[in-house]
Amino acid sequence: MSTIVQKYGGSSVSTPSKLKEVARRIVDTRNLGHKVVVVVSAMGDTTNKLLSLAKEVSPQPHRRELDMLLTVGERISMSLLSMAIQDLGAPAVSFTGSQSGIITTNTHTNARITKVRPTRVLKALEDDYIVIIAGFQGVSEKLEITSLGRGGSDTTAVAMAAALNADYVEICSDVDGVYSSDPRVVPEAHRVAEMSYEEMQNLADSGAKVLNAEAIEWAKRNQIEVRCVATNDPSRSGTNIKKLSQTHDVHHHSQISAVTSHPGLMKVQGPMSSSTKLCDCLNTYGITDADIYWQSSAQQEMWECWIPLLNLHQVEQMKHSLFALGASHIETDWSWVTMIGRSLLGLQETSSTGMEKSSELMHQEESSLLGQVSTLCQEHSLQATVLSFNPSALRWAIPIGQASQLVKVLHNTFIKMGN
Ligand code: ADP
Ligand code: ASP
Ligand code: MG
Repeated sequence: MSTIVQKYGGSSVSTPSKLKEVARRIVDTRNLGHKVVVVVSAMGDTTNKLLSLAKEVSPQPHRRELDMLLTVGERISMSLLSMAIQDLGAPAVSFTGSQSGIITTNTHTNARITKVRPTRVLKALEDDYIVIIAGFQGVSEKLEITSLGRGGSDTTAVAMAAALNADYVEICSDVDGVYSSDPRVVPEAHRVAEMSYEEMQNLADSGAKVLNAEAIEWAKRNQIEVRCVATNDPSRSGTNIKKLSQTHDVHHHSQISAVTSHPGLMKVQGPMSSSTKLCDCLNTYGITDADIYWQSSAQQEMWECWIPLLNLHQVEQMKHSLFALGASHIETDWSWVTMIGRSLLGLQETSSTGMEKSSELMHQEESSLLGQVSTLCQEHSLQATVLSFNPSALRWAIPIGQASQLVKVLHNTFIKMGN
């Protein structure tokens, strides 16, 4: 008998009636003869509301207590979903992350799953139950309840699928797959039927919210197929993310496959002498996904650090800590725009030495991709600066208010419809 893990996002369970529809979909899947494990997110914008509540009480909330609060959202939906399934006549049982054996690091508000010990899940499946798991949470070795960072239910689902050796994971949300750009920003974006783990990882790392980046790491490491589908689409066609052969890559994709933006970044600069203290500071605030670049000029050597704001809930406190360690400049309203593809800049054979070759190309005439983008930015009065580049991803930093326009311009210039 095959085991399938299904994950339902917040928009799919935002109201009692939607939750009942999801219960029906789960029971239908079981009736097809599968063992079903379900990971569920908090209803609608519950997590945002809990965060606002915390900040009304404590503007720089303590991270351990924030985890105690935020993880409640998923517990509400898991228990309600289990009730709804039982009302349809199927046996179901709900478990918290801790009860499901999701073991994490102790980094509150941004923990990483270290292992999964699914003893209770396996026993319940053996006893013929549908198992409902609260996403986005686990327990640390210190027995503290932790949360996995925003969008973390995707990671719960894929890590659990790996532990159960499931046939595949279905990520059920309000969008019927992965598009060449966020369809809310670029209505002309097209759905991609199949993607490699690497391509999706690039997209997720660059801010595409449709699938969490850590979830893709788990999928790639364990070769778990991930199917992104819309909850309310009976055809269940969407995007399959799996291992793809080289031949497939070359023949079925254009050079540039997607454009995405990563909103909400803090840009911090400081002298090289404070770089060790910077790393300590990032750890203190649970920031595991910052990007740091080195810059050297005739005057001095500097670092430039880009910190995603999504899982940083003590912004003012962190700014104080950064200035105290020697940061010279902090700005919060930044975004990245990234173009994903392969052999970008014509660097097929380059990977480790990509930086050097790309630097040469940067100085070449307008025909290079970077040159073309620079011209487009001038035409549209967009203040984008190149941040990093390699053969599969080109990234620009841009003020947050201009990011969507740059995404549209790049998508509509470089990605043809229906590719
Ligand atoms: P859920 O709550 O189900 O986890 P999310 O809101 O986290 O769903 O993710 C789905 C959203 O991701 C879509 O509504 C869409 O706006 C956004 N999105 C961003 N980039 C992409 C993309 N490349 N393809 C599809 N959706 C995207
Ligand atoms: N409820 C959490 C969030 O809103 C986790 C998730 O949806 O995956 O980020
Ligand atoms: Mg999500």
